[in-house]
Amino acid sequence: MPRAITRRDDALVLEWEPGQPAHVHAARPLRLACPCAECVEEMTGRPLLDPARVPADVRPLSVRLVGTYGLQVRWSDGHGTGIYTFERLRQRAPESVEPAAGAAGA
Ligand SMILES: [Zn+2]
Repeated sequence: MPRAITRRDDALVLEWEPGQPAHVHAARPLRLACPCAECVEEMTGRPLLDPARVPADVRPLSVRLVGTYGLQVRWSDGHGTGIYTFERLRQRAPESVEPAAGAAGA
């Protein structure tokens, strides 16, 4: 599990390791990467989501923990069924990194 999860209007920020830079997952790319059955065909992994239907300024409205294995994000475009597992988030390349909020010397 991440040490810290911060919801921002433009991103989700995840801190994984003490003292390591936080991973900034920009809102829209993360929305487009929604792994739910409405957005991705389960058997083939084929994308079903049309990116043109996701607003440029889509925002995460709320984030909730799903057990100890993932996050469910409710998006401003009304979507909220996708569960982003921590495993998947951990492996996903962040759009940017920034010093962790609690990092020494930051
Ligand atoms: Zn979805």
